[in-house]
Amino acid sequence: MSTPTTSPDRASSLLVVGSANADLVVRVARHPAPGETVLGSDGLAVHLGGKGANQAVAAGRLGARVAFCGCVGQDAYGERLAAELGAAGVATTALATAADAPTGIALITVAESGENTIVVAPGANRSLTEARVRAAVTAAVRVVSVQCEVPLDAVRAAARHASRLVLNPSPPEALTAAPYAAEILAAADPLVVNEHELRVLLAGRTDRPRPADLVPLLGVRSAVVTLGAAGAVVVDGEGRTTKLPAPAVPVVDTTGAGDAFTGALAWRLAEGDELVAAARWAVLAGAAAVQEHGAQLSSTACGKLLAVGV
Ligand code: ATP
Repeated sequence: MSTPTTSPDRASSLLVVGSANADLVVRVARHPAPGETVLGSDGLAVHLGGKGANQAVAAGRLGARVAFCGCVGQDAYGERLAAELGAAGVATTALATAADAPTGIALITVAESGENTIVVAPGANRSLTEARVRAAVTAAVRVVSVQCEVPLDAVRAAARHASRLVLNPSPPEALTAAPYAAEILAAADPLVVNEHELRVLLAGRTDRPRPADLVPLLGVRSAVVTLGAAGAVVVDGEGRTTKLPAPAVPVVDTTGAGDAFTGALAWRLAEGDELVAAARWAVLAGAAAVQEHGAQLSSTACGKLLAVGV
């Protein structure tokens, strides 16, 4: 793996640690059955993707002083992802290039019904090391935001070295399989989960999982549960909950709403907001994301959101 040419951006108050993929998207009338070939209706669209990159882009477009720590391959997709992160205002000095693995790829087919199939080849995302993460957490970094699409020892490094950790345990099965899951969870302030992740993480611990259970049963410092069109619930360290309803908006595509939410939340926490105030921004960012196509929060949506504020 090559070494970044310069040190991570010292001015960044937010560090997003996570996956970056090239999303290769083809639209089809219907999904093929096993063994069948169908023709796509358009050409191939290539987008920046991966939960880490999506969250970093949301934060960057909202004006965060944000750096991204991840790993791409030494190939054209890797160069393109680095350029797109940079264009969104994300510092890429902690983005490593693996010499022996290709950039992560997500093969996505979207049917006319709107249903997706997604196959991910993680590639270079698997090469992100504990040492890379440790080096990227500079003294200026107030918040580290991490998901679970990179090796769990890199997630643990984020948990160990962050002053404040935003943990989005997606996919949750990756975290629950880790022998040191409890150590990672204990650093989460907040844990950010959707309702599916809430159920997976609390499976076997309670029959009726509720947001307030996350703090006592998982040992996290605080939590935020996203509820789709119903908004979000914030849980503080004592297990007290604050419900934040989402605005009623016309929905175009819900893909990436969670990443816009978490990117905005991490941005506001890095700026010094209290958790509930930060989550109010996050709810607006999620509502902005569902009003447009694609997994990334657009510059236009960010501009409108910043003009309105909370
Ligand atoms: P995804 O996996 O699609 O990125 P998610 O399941 O992680 O999403 P959701 O709970 O669906 O996350 O959505 C995240 C946030 O986006 C919600 O908390 C809410 O603030 C906002 N949101 C989602 N859907 C809607 C909607 N229909 N109307 C308004 N806001 C929405």
